[in-house]
Amino acid sequence: MDVSLVIPLLNERESLPELHERIVRVMASEGLSYEIIFIDDGSTDGSWDCISGLSAADPCVHGIRFRRNYGKSAALYCGFEKAQGDVVVTMDADLQDAPEEIPEMRRMIVEEGYDLVSGWKKHRKDNAITKNLPSKLYNATARRITGIKLHDMNCGLKIYRRDVVKSIEVYGEMHRYIPYLAKNAGFSKIGEKAVHHEKRKYGKSKFGMDRFVNGFLDLQSLWFLSTFGKKPMHFFGTSGLVMFLAGFIMTVWIIVEKLIQQNHYLKYRAVTDQPLFYLALLAVILGTVLFLAGLLGEMISRSSSERNRYNIKDEI
Ligand code: UDP
Ligand code: MG
Repeated sequence: MDVSLVIPLLNERESLPELHERIVRVMASEGLSYEIIFIDDGSTDGSWDCISGLSAADPCVHGIRFRRNYGKSAALYCGFEKAQGDVVVTMDADLQDAPEEIPEMRRMIVEEGYDLVSGWKKHRKDNAITKNLPSKLYNATARRITGIKLHDMNCGLKIYRRDVVKSIEVYGEMHRYIPYLAKNAGFSKIGEKAVHHEKRKYGKSKFGMDRFVNGFLDLQSLWFLSTFGKKPMHFFGTSGLVMFLAGFIMTVWIIVEKLIQQNHYLKYRAVTDQPLFYLALLAVILGTVLFLAGLLGEMISRSSSERNRYNIKDEI
């Protein structure tokens, strides 16, 4: 099969028939074999009835229905598990992403050798203050931290070589960072294509402003996990040692200074009378705690089933 389309949706009933029709038209004009996998993420507006109707009329349409709302990442994960096409497309179900962009994006994968091509909503048709501006800031941060030069990391319309989606695990709210997950799994040829973007026709957006805070925190965790996830001691151990040493040197200094002054019959302060004593105490305790955190982290990662999972490209 040439193409799998993975489409997560939450309460998008009105959009589905038109979306299906446009996908069918595009695929037919390109002569591609395909499957459409709708993942109903706990809709309550009858989206599932619509999907069953489409599936009855068109054998290329498949569906997964969650018993409750788990979020877009969960929906993508299940869609990726099921997908069988040589390339896998993800797109939103709200008609904001155009299926007409798929052939060109697919060509970039098949002919130019990209692992992943991300859409770029160059002329974005969303609210300027609540979406477009924060999104620019967010993308600039993401570019810095991930080192992936994409204008629009979180575009719903993306296309992947099948290996990519089978090698990554989207969880929590990590759907915003799939290119980063792919990069960490060793797929480095990541491209982008400016895509047409539409205003939302039906229904309303499912994500509010809180996504920027959460998105930022997720970026931090991903960065940390990809850098130190397999060797937590390198991070906590180093900072713990530095802290402990600083505390130790301060302690020695305080004691030596006191002894010298005592020896020379000078006026001296009790050890606990000086501010430095408390700093030294704090540093020694914090250093030990950090070191301990590293040790615990190391023990946890040692017993994880992921510890020796590598993505092997070739073997002869
Ligand atoms: N979506 C989903 N589960 C959720 C939230 C959203 O499957 O918990 C789907 C939604 O139906 C749509 C896509 O994810 O197909 C993108 O959502 P939306 O259009 O609300 O995001 P926006 O375009 O406003 O960023
Ligand atoms: Mg949308």
